[in-house]
Amino acid sequence: MLTAFSPDYATARRRFREAADRLGWSLEAHSIGSTGPEGEELTIDIGYSAAEPPDKILVISSGVHGVEGFFGSAVQIALLELWASTSPPPIRCVFLHALNPFGFAWLRRCDENNVDPNRNFLLPGESYQGAPLQYASLDKLLNPRCPPSRWEPFRLKAFWKIARTGVSPLRHAIATGQYEYPQGLFYGGAGPTAMQNLLETNLDRWLASSQQVVHLDFHTGLGRQAACKFLIDYQLSDRQRAWLVEWFGADAFENCNSEGVAYNARGGLGRWCVSRNLAPDYLFACAEFGTYGQISMLSGLRSENQSHHWGNPSSASTARTKQKFKELFCPAAESWRLSVINTSVDLVARAVCGLTGNIS
Ligand SMILES: [Zn+2]
Repeated sequence: MLTAFSPDYATARRRFREAADRLGWSLEAHSIGSTGPEGEELTIDIGYSAAEPPDKILVISSGVHGVEGFFGSAVQIALLELWASTSPPPIRCVFLHALNPFGFAWLRRCDENNVDPNRNFLLPGESYQGAPLQYASLDKLLNPRCPPSRWEPFRLKAFWKIARTGVSPLRHAIATGQYEYPQGLFYGGAGPTAMQNLLETNLDRWLASSQQVVHLDFHTGLGRQAACKFLIDYQLSDRQRAWLVEWFGADAFENCNSEGVAYNARGGLGRWCVSRNLAPDYLFACAEFGTYGQISMLSGLRSENQSHHWGNPSSASTARTKQKFKELFCPAAESWRLSVINTSVDLVARAVCGLTGNIS
């Protein structure tokens, strides 16, 4: 299972393509018109099986948040390799690999335009405008407009802010998404991204004739280390809730508006997918795996964003910041990697059992 992790985007993509091809899946590569650090063309890759019946579909997506794709891609490769050595599930599968290849290749969470893709999927009638009230007062702290310096008392200032504001309001102010600070953290963009356009054009084709879709979207960086929570950013129907409880357990998920690790983000992929009525039943869950603590994560997000916009791209300190950033979203520790892959494979097996009606 540890071997499913790739050292870089290009290797991950090659391995994904080879593993899907070995299972006889169809493959598509969609260029985003940009290149990676080695000059490689960046693509979103789709692999899908032709298994019958076509009415039940398992969708697994990775890399919405670029750098989190190191983990999500490993889940996809581990599943494909496992199924090649045992047998693939008796349902159609659609794997969306590296939905944000720019962030994956360049070790960013956001895309080539500094857009957080999971804040970009607004619904018709919603506008790419606005920011939480407190974001303006946090802007200077979160998004310094100067090159990184050796001494940056961010942790001290962050602790001070938390002491005065509380963790939950602060998290709400920062992480729900903003549309006013294009170089800031959690920027949702000024219009649909390439990722959104690609899904808008193709998702209905990939899911053609489906009646029931289960879509697991793999992320890291939030929650207890190596633990998984399904975050649901839309209102679950009673039936969807019952499936989640039956298949994964009552503690496995958090719906929007609830207290816990989640927050009410705007522009999430899940709500957008579900709202499109592509299948009578579309169950979407963001599978979020914890890595490091909240202050470490926020500090790393801030440093990487500052280095990207204001630092010297070829300096050793920018390279160090990037490597730290990768570690924050895909820890190198074998214990973490083994645990998250094993959990992910188990969750997917449960989803398959649920879809095929074989829950014991
Ligand atoms: Zn994420």
